[in-house]
Formats: sequence, C-alpha cells, structure tokens
Amino acid sequence: MKSFKLTLGQDKELHRGQLFWHTTTERAAFYPALIEDQACQIAIIGGGMSGAILAHQLSQASHDIIVVDKLQPGIGSSLGNTGIIQYHSDRALKDFIRIEGEQTAKDFYQLCHDAMKRLDRIIEDLGAEVGYQPLESVYITHEVKDASAFKQETKSLIEHGFPAEYLSREALARDCGLVGEHGLITRDDAMINPFKLIQALHEDSLRRGVKLFGNTIVKQVSRKRGQERITIETAEGHHIVAERVIFCTGYLEDFPALKNRDQLHSTYSVVTQPIKGPIWPKRRMVWDAADPYLYFRVTEDDRLIAGGLDETTDELSDMTTILQRAEQLLEQVRSYYPSLEAEPYVAWQSVFGVSRDELPFIGQDPKLDQVYYALGFGGNGTCYSVAAADILSCLIEGREHPYAYVVDPAR
Ligand SMILES: Cc1cc2nc3c(=O)[nH]c(=O)nc-3n(C[C@H](O)[C@H](O)[C@H](O)COP(=O)(O)OP(=O)(O)OC[C@H]3O[C@@H](n4cnc5c(N)ncnc54)[C@H](O)[C@@H]3O)c2cc1C
Repeated sequence: MKSFKLTLGQDKELHRGQLFWHTTTERAAFYPALIEDQACQIAIIGGGMSGAILAHQLSQASHDIIVVDKLQPGIGSSLGNTGIIQYHSDRALKDFIRIEGEQTAKDFYQLCHDAMKRLDRIIEDLGAEVGYQPLESVYITHEVKDASAFKQETKSLIEHGFPAEYLSREALARDCGLVGEHGLITRDDAMINPFKLIQALHEDSLRRGVKLFGNTIVKQVSRKRGQERITIETAEGHHIVAERVIFCTGYLEDFPALKNRDQLHSTYSVVTQPIKGPIWPKRRMVWDAADPYLYFRVTEDDRLIAGGLDETTDELSDMTTILQRAEQLLEQVRSYYPSLEAEPYVAWQSVFGVSRDELPFIGQDPKLDQVYYALGFGGNGTCYSVAAADILSCLIEGREHPYAYVVDPAR
C-alpha cells in the first residue's frame, strides 16, 4: 500500500463569545486523554457530530473502534450548530440541476432526504432525550421579485419526489404567522439539541466497546513503505496503530486530497431568554438564504435561536461586535415575526467551512487506501454527518452506495 504522511494540528479559534448547548444538560461525560499506545481496526479522529454518528453506526457492525478528539467531544463546530436539520440545501435543487445536471442533483437531494429518515431511526433506537422533534421548515423571502424562483424550486422539488409547498404572502401570514413575500415549506425536517445527541451517541457507543479519548491532539497520520497499518501519533508522543483512519476533524484541518475546499467563513448566533409573548404557529424553522443570511427556530425551552450575518472571513470579532450582531439578528427575525418579545441571553461567532461546489467531502482519499473523510463542509452539516456514516459504512464493508459519487472527495 502507498506510504504517506499527513500533518495535523491547526489550533485556530473556532468560536468566540458565550455558547449555549452545553448548558442544557448535566449528562456530559469527561473523556480522559490517551496515555498509552493502542491498536484498533478503525481510528476516528474527531468526536463531534460526524465522529459520534460514525462511531455509533460502525460499532453496530462490531468494528473495533477508537475515537480521539483534541477537545472534549461536542465542543467543536457542533457546539455552534443551531440544530435546524433539513434535507434542502443552501443551493436550491433547480440550481443544482442547472450546474451539476439532473441526475447528480437529484441524487444529492435524495442522499440528504434519506439522511433525515436515517436520523429519525437513529434517535428512536437511542431512546435518549436529545431535543429531537420532526418539524417543517419555511424558506422565506421579503423580495417580491423572487416569486418565480420560489415557485420553480417548489415545482422542481415536487417533481423529483421531495415534500414541498409554495406559500404566497397571504398563506405565509395565515398558515405560518410570518411576514414575507414568498415562502416554501419543506417537510421531513427536524430540530435537535446537537450537544445532547453527541453525548447520547458516545454513551451508547462506549457500551458497545468503542474507546474514546478526549484532550488528545493528533499531530501526524502516516503509513510507512511496505506496511499495511496506519500510525496515528499524538502531540504527547503516543501512537494508535489502525487498519483504517477516518478524518472527522471538522472545518480546520486541511488535506491535499480536498481540491474543492474554499476559504473559511464566519457566522453569528444568538439565543434569547425564553420568548415572553406568543410563538408563531407550529414553530416551524425559518430560513432566508438572501444576503445577509438568516435562520431561526424555537428551542425545547421556548428560547429563540437565530444565526446568520455570515462574513467571508475567519477572523473572529470582539465581544462588542458579537453583541451588536446578536441585536441585528433579532431585528432581522422581527422583520418576519414582528411580535417577537425576547431578550438576548448568549451570543457567539463561529468559523465555518464551505466547498466551492457547496458539497461535503465524504469518501475515501483518491490516492490513499484505507484513509477516509467525513467532512460536512456547507450548510446542512448534520444531514451530511448522517450521510457520511452511511456512505463510509458501505465503503468499509465493501458495499456500493448509490449516491456516494456526488460527495466523493475526488470529484
Ligand atoms: C454557527 C453554526 C451553526 C450551524 N448550524 C447548523 C444547523 O442549524 N444545522 C446543521 O445541520 N448544521 C449546522 N452547522 C454545521 C454543523 O455544526 C457542522 O456540520 C457539524 O458540527 C460538523 O461536525 P463535525 O463533527 O464534522 O465537526 P466538529 O464538531 O468541529 O468536530 C470535529 C472534531 O475534531 C476534533 N479535531 C480536529 N482536529 C483534530 C486533531 N488534529 N486531533 C484530534 N482531534 C481533532 C475537534 O476537536 C472537533 O471536536 C452549523 C455550524 C456552525 C458553525
């Protein structure tokens, strides 16, 4: 097998400000650092949403798995996650069809829609309380001129078998209690508490024999000439020897195989005190892909969580700016739901990664056998984490996955 050496260890700040999800549970476990050499079949680097779902799924098939994380699992980008889980991508299906062709676009949307159903089963099997609730989303705009774009997208989704419905200004007000010119409802979406889900998945995986080490920075991953096994070296000089390695390292680490990777961006989030007045009907999750970007929903305990005002820089701002952006986000939310009565509680800014074609990187390294990536670059991160678990299980177990080609890192 081909020899290689990959160097890791980006220590850039992922978030600034005060985050929220870890304050919603007392169930978080502490995972000690790796202090002696280990061996396993599959080493997963990164124990965030992608690593947690992958370890959980692969451990069901009796693989011998070690997960290592430089932090405590769930504290990476997954802690910034607003918990709006959707099959609809930031890039509309009709635009995907225009750019990638009908089959690829349909397959990508099918991959995401299947992931929503798969997530539902994962949570049912887990049987843990993770703030999960199937919920509809409303894609909304204030732009009168977007009528045909919204109608075409609804038509395209329905024609390809995805649940969607167009809403006029009147229907938005009547059915959703929201102000906007056009709306598009997508079904089969869900809300989640990402931190609770990660904790519950790891807890269950540990019962199945998965080993998990926190506070363990991986510095180098290599395979020597003539050897089959891969060696993972930590910053403390300990080693894990594995048959396969899966990188679930989130947005920061870079890999030569990822040609389509784009520069890092940043985004702001705010969580309010519990909403005092009425909440819009059915508490649908709301998003507007315009510039400035906006998405919001209601948490399990009636707080508003909103995110957006994305910037094309990974330089994080000072706290004054973060708090100003939090107020701006709430003003934006009020433009869709004027009766909102809620005070800011916590606010933060996070770095996030995108790819040039707005697709994640999931699959085997194009040149290196037994080396895999589950990197959810782009908007629908949680959906991609679930899809990654399915695709990589297939690849590792020698089965075909019908949609793997769309997100293949070699594309
Ligand atoms: C502000 C914000 C809001 C979001 N909202 C949503 C949303 O509403 N819905 C949605 O679906 N998605 C959302 N996302 C995207 C989603 O959060 C991500 O897709 C998801 O968290 C990615 O999970 P991950 O496991 O790949 O990354 P992470 O959670 O970052 O996990 C990667 C882990 O790898 C570890 N690691 C990295 N390098 C090393 C190393 N060298 N050695 C050891 N460990 C290492 C890190 O410590 C980290 O814990 C949002 C993202 C952000 C930033």
